[in-house]
Amino acid sequence: MFDIHRIIRPNIKDLVPYSSARDEFTGEAKVFLDANENSLGSPLLKWYNRYPDPHQQVLKEKLSHIKGIAPAHIFLGNGSDEAIDILYRAFCEPGRHNVVVCPPTYGMYEVSAHINDVAVRKVPLTEAFQLDLEAMEAAVDADTRIIWLCSPNNPTGNSLDRGDIEMILNNFDGIVVVDEAYINFSRHRSFIPDLADYPNLVVLQTLSKAWGLAALRVGMAFASADIIGIMNRIKPPYNINEAAQQLASDALEEVEQVNEMIRILVTERDRLAAALQTHPLVQHVYPSDANFLLVKVNGGRKVYDFLLTQGIVVRDRSTTPGCADCIRITVGTPTENEILLRALDAFASA
Ligand SMILES: *Cc1c(COP(=O)(O)O)cnc(C)c1O
Repeated sequence: MFDIHRIIRPNIKDLVPYSSARDEFTGEAKVFLDANENSLGSPLLKWYNRYPDPHQQVLKEKLSHIKGIAPAHIFLGNGSDEAIDILYRAFCEPGRHNVVVCPPTYGMYEVSAHINDVAVRKVPLTEAFQLDLEAMEAAVDADTRIIWLCSPNNPTGNSLDRGDIEMILNNFDGIVVVDEAYINFSRHRSFIPDLADYPNLVVLQTLSKAWGLAALRVGMAFASADIIGIMNRIKPPYNINEAAQQLASDALEEVEQVNEMIRILVTERDRLAAALQTHPLVQHVYPSDANFLLVKVNGGRKVYDFLLTQGIVVRDRSTTPGCADCIRITVGTPTENEILLRALDAFASA
């Protein structure tokens, strides 16, 4: 049975969180002399002299409507990477607890574990880039606190089998994170509606990919109100700056524009995949539910180096276990994708 009280670190349970000026007084007033801000203003717009809302209420309200979940179930971080770090600090005792990651996958789960001195148990994905449930069960012990799942997975592009994820949610009594950074490009549905059924589930999403706002650094975690409450206690009070809150809030009004970009990128992904499939350099194009393609080529590093000489940067994944000779290609604009295809033609006929 999952019990949040069993897995929260005692120092976090006992923590008295920082109480900001914005926490101690909320509401309207004539004169704000409580936060040592510059009362005269700022060189920029007027409101930049004030500290931002530590609870990001406007942003969460808008996200709540888009995602269909109450603000009490939403955590906002300075990118998903902050949410990842905070989950370690909430639930993993340094030097004692461990987590499970399933490579090839997003590198931050492991880096953040090392920063927090948490042991990483690696259970590679199967050849089809699916979860190896038996090996995962064998890897988990009483000190395993988090299982990291990424679906659609980076860098492989595929979605994990939904039944497998449900199996883990039902049988593991620690935290199960499902990182859905690429969910908007996928045919599969999010796990957000399943949060009511799983008290141990944390869903990560981000404004960095489909929403086109990587520069703003806004990541989201969706979970039980208990888990979100714990994450909010740990975060720096002003972790989402005012410019990011204002701009993200404006962007969330543009759902239709974003949906149009998603449609274009998915069409381009499928066109690019079809063109690559028949290319003489290409051994295999892995199926993708994301805005990138993992492509196995003849001589991964050589192709990567050649593309660089043409001013085209892709990601060399050829040294990643399970991804020999693979490059990861982000879906570009139609023009950029043509430039890439022509460069590959030039390399093949050279
Ligand atoms: C890009 C990406 C993210 C997003 O990270 P941010 O810090 O929100 O920009 C998260 N998870 C995965 C798997 C990613 O590929």
